[in-house]
Amino acid sequence: MNDYVFAPPERVSVKVLETKKRFAVNRVFCVGRNYAEHAIEMGFHPNCDKPFYFTKSPSAVIASGSRICYPEATDNFHHEMELVIAIGYGGSKILPDRALSHIFGYACGLDMTRRDLQISLRERGYPWCISKDIDNGAVIGSIRPANMTGHPSKGRIWLSVNDQIRQDSNINQLMWSVPEIVSDLSKFYHLSPGDLIYSGTPSGVGAVLPGDLIQGEIEEVGSISLRIDLR
Ligand code: MN
Repeated sequence: MNDYVFAPPERVSVKVLETKKRFAVNRVFCVGRNYAEHAIEMGFHPNCDKPFYFTKSPSAVIASGSRICYPEATDNFHHEMELVIAIGYGGSKILPDRALSHIFGYACGLDMTRRDLQISLRERGYPWCISKDIDNGAVIGSIRPANMTGHPSKGRIWLSVNDQIRQDSNINQLMWSVPEIVSDLSKFYHLSPGDLIYSGTPSGVGAVLPGDLIQGEIEEVGSISLRIDLR
């Protein structure tokens, strides 16, 4: 009980539908540019060569329905609506045709981004951390267990700001499919139960301002919302 010089932080966890038990978060991985239209809007050719990844701190995870303050150190705070994969069974070098059996379930996520910082870091060849790994910057809705509704491979994904649709696509537009992402990421990490993978955002990303209400939905996965307050 007195093994620590201060009380260890509380374990971050996510609500799971149809149960009182919660999903304990281990790590948060994110896939970059996984929809062709988004790659183009960010100034890149859609590159089907290899996926790439960045990470967020588990402590950045925050539940759908929360209010967050507009973050410091940005004047261009962006929404990215994403399908989140929740890993339930660990493994390395997972073959694509075995990948689905490692997935506990799915959720809606918002990969909140300091876009101005991301672009300037990118231009200088610096890591993206402070543009992506933001306090309260990994928003997540309730996890829907795959044993309830299976593994979605298609379905509308949309996001609105103050009831105006900004992002509207389909998860069948993912350049790297869910099994391909899980398989590829497991070449670099031993995936563990509790890992979350934000699978990338469709086109239509944009800025939010204090007072804005973000809402989003993925067909047969769930919904998400976030209110932005004054700094
Ligand atoms: Mn993203």
